Amino acid sequence: MSKKADKKELPKKGEEPKKEVKKPEAPPVESTKEEAKPAPKPEKAPKPEKKKKEEKGVFKLYKIEQDKLVRLRPICERCGPGYFMADHKNRYTCGHCGFTRYKPTKE
Ligand SMILES: [Zn+2]
Repeated sequence: MSKKADKKELPKKGEEPKKEVKKPEAPPVESTKEEAKPAPKPEKAPKPEKKKKEEKGVFKLYKIEQDKLVRLRPICERCGPGYFMADHKNRYTCGHCGFTRYKPTKE
């Protein structure tokens, strides 16, 4: 009995016995890089920079006169409302489509 049992237990050649090898898994890397950053001033709440940037540029394009909204830049004729044209000294240009309109020269 003991002999047979021994034979059965022997693995056949070329057939690897199933090993339950647990790979040494790398521990989940929880980077603590954020902590390394210089902490922002606690008084100021973190604001999305994009929004701030947008407001900064837009306010130059509008002006309120007597409860009316006046656009300081012309609107691109090609692109339609929403696309302002850049103000140059003798012309307006659209950065979206490249349309250029020369300012009327008053002399
Ligand atoms: Zn345009």
